[in-house]
Amino acid sequence: MKPAPFQYLAPRTRDEALEALRQFGPDAKVLAGGQSLVPLLAMRLARPAVLVDINRVPDLAFVRAARGAIVIGAMTRQRTVETHPLVATQLPLLREALRWVGHPQIRTRGTIGGSLAHADPAAELPAVASVLGATFKVVSRRRQRTLGCEEFFTGYLTTALEPDELLTEIRFPVPPPRTGWAFQEVARRHGDFALVGVAALVRLDGDRRCIEARLAFTGVGPGPVRVADAEALLVGRALTREAADEAGRAVTAALEPEGDIHASAEYRKHVAGVLAARALLQAAERVQT
Ligand SMILES: Cc1cc2nc3c(=O)[nH]c(=O)nc-3n(C[C@H](O)[C@H](O)[C@H](O)COP(=O)(O)OP(=O)(O)OC[C@H]3O[C@@H](n4cnc5c(N)ncnc54)[C@H](O)[C@@H]3O)c2cc1C
Repeated sequence: MKPAPFQYLAPRTRDEALEALRQFGPDAKVLAGGQSLVPLLAMRLARPAVLVDINRVPDLAFVRAARGAIVIGAMTRQRTVETHPLVATQLPLLREALRWVGHPQIRTRGTIGGSLAHADPAAELPAVASVLGATFKVVSRRRQRTLGCEEFFTGYLTTALEPDELLTEIRFPVPPPRTGWAFQEVARRHGDFALVGVAALVRLDGDRRCIEARLAFTGVGPGPVRVADAEALLVGRALTREAADEAGRAVTAALEPEGDIHASAEYRKHVAGVLAARALLQAAERVQT
């Protein structure tokens, strides 16, 4: 199918983009990499009157080190992030998870901000943002605000972004030393969205006891899901297979996913627990003490 007619704007600066959103807000859609929006337009599931294409706004694409964090511009291509040396050394979890997003061709076009603003419940990046405690800079003509994941992701395919607002950058805190990471996923085929996925971070002390564990799941709720009970039961313990399996069982008990044509709720609960245990052990193995 072909999209319904729309007016196309290609601002050259951030101010021009924000002005277009101020003017057309509820009738407009921001176009980033187009990897989710263009299919929606083609199927006429989205019918905006105006497209605000931000591909020509130069200062929205960057990767830079800030104090204790890596800050990434919303328009930065996923493939740029995946291959960036700062990300490789400081945020290896992000690099690892990006390899699960579609295929290289899609990541070459798709953007970090587009994936997070689209907020697909089975996408990898919202879980990574959640487990790392990322924050989102959101700008409009009216105001500028910074949101945490719990405020930003509001439900199925929805975020706190208002029609006149642009996501401009995401700040990913760099995990402290002695932190290991893992991203595990089950999908029907490589490149498909996750049936279930998990991002894990584990911090160990010099005796390899767990100081902190974090787990964020994708594919089991309307947005990224943390399981505090499973995280808490690991603190102060050696991260053995038994401890990881116990955390996995706590995950299975806590989650309440929905079943759909791709997988039943029971399957998702079970797989989430298995993946959690696997990810925790892999993350622990990667801790350098
Ligand atoms: C075959 C295929 C397989 C895929 N597989 C996966 C997968 O396994 N995992 C996965 O996570 N994704 C997958 N995707 C989606 C891909 O990652 C997209 O790139 C991503 O979902 C959207 O990013 P985008 O830059 O293309 O955004 P667009 O499609 O341009 O925009 C998506 C939405 O975000 C809004 N938006 C974009 N940028 C901003 C901004 N800066 N401020 C405010 N709103 C904004 C748009 O208005 C739109 O509503 C797949 C896509 C395809 C085509």
